[in-house]
Amino acid sequence: MDWLETRNGRLHAEGVALTEIAERFGTPVYVYSRAAIEQAFGEFSRAAAGREVLVCYAMKANSNLAIIDLLARAGAGFDIVSGGELRRALAAGADASRVVFSGVGKSANEIRFALEAGVRCFNVESTSELRRLSAIATACGRRAPVSLRVNPDVDAGTHPYISTGLRENKFGIAHDAAIAVYREAATLPGIEVTGIDCHIGSQITELAPFVAALDRIIDLAGQLAAQGIALRHLDLGGGLGIDYDGERPPSRQALLDAVFARIDASPAVRGLEVMFEFGRSIVGNAGLLLTRVEYLKSNDARNFAVVDAAMNDLMRPALYEAFHRIVPVVDRPGTALRWDVVGPVCESGDWLGRDRALALEEGDLLAVLSAGAYGMAMSSNYNTRPRAAEVMVDRGQAHLIRERETVESLYALERRLPD
Ligand SMILES: *Cc1c(COP(=O)(O)O)cnc(C)c1O
Repeated sequence: MDWLETRNGRLHAEGVALTEIAERFGTPVYVYSRAAIEQAFGEFSRAAAGREVLVCYAMKANSNLAIIDLLARAGAGFDIVSGGELRRALAAGADASRVVFSGVGKSANEIRFALEAGVRCFNVESTSELRRLSAIATACGRRAPVSLRVNPDVDAGTHPYISTGLRENKFGIAHDAAIAVYREAATLPGIEVTGIDCHIGSQITELAPFVAALDRIIDLAGQLAAQGIALRHLDLGGGLGIDYDGERPPSRQALLDAVFARIDASPAVRGLEVMFEFGRSIVGNAGLLLTRVEYLKSNDARNFAVVDAAMNDLMRPALYEAFHRIVPVVDRPGTALRWDVVGPVCESGDWLGRDRALALEEGDLLAVLSAGAYGMAMSSNYNTRPRAAEVMVDRGQAHLIRERETVESLYALERRLPD
């Protein structure tokens, strides 16, 4: 992460000392780098230069308006999974014609809203959704642009909770059933078939699953063409992994090169527009969670560092036993001990890192790295904990991009029973 650098024994983010950010904004606080986000997106754009490609940002990874705004300005499209995300994208200034709408459970209201806004494509995940979409579009006097999300039954080789392209996952339409569903789609009055898509999972660190899924999609596109159903685009989803703990995923360029080589060699899809939906690989390593050590405590078995961030702030360790590097913000001389870094929430699952070698004292600041994706976005108010503030550093300046929540706001919508 080249936006992080140690100067005079203190960790800096794009030139701003994290100690200063902690003092100014308090902890826990998420810190993002504008340059790192733009660099990651820029690598995808450059790898796609000269081709008809729309690189979407899967905004569920981190949907802060400042991040959406930066990516919209850099030319990104957006992959959304709810009407709320569409509202957010529009509020940040994104263009609906660059938005694709994914998700297995789109409600009638969400569909209507997205049709009226004019999204680029609905990624449809079932026959029932297709019929509902056609009926709503017809009632609004429109035709909905559709790609079917095909479940290619490919093992992404990732954590079961973030695998989405296997038969047993709830996502998409089975590969074997896809042709029949396309045939029906072609007859529905409110549907305009425009593409085909897949998304096989997240934190994928090998090229092979992407290529295997692409081959399955190319095969279907060929069968569809033979039946007179012409596609205009392929949407290959997201899922490219990042380095949390020494993983070595393919580079952004290597992934796109492999995809385009395959497409160029396949007459059935050569020349079609290509879309992607990357989340984690754009923002994951552009953010960290800054937290302060409240208490140190030890028993015969373990040493615990109780910090002021918890599973409600960063759920990935509790949810997937995910690993995040945890580093001290100020270098401290002294012997490292093995610490379990845990939060104040009343759950044994509330840990951020286990068995970490750190020299620690109470009051120290720690940076939990690679927290830009699925960090703040998955946070909650469990234990009536206000969600953390978010800060973005940009050329030596730290900007508050989300205020820390107040406790009052957490129960402002609640009502007592009448007397
Ligand atoms: C979550 C998701 C993505 C993004 O996945 P990443 O691993 O963050 O790149 C893309 N498409 C769909 C349909 C998703 O659900």
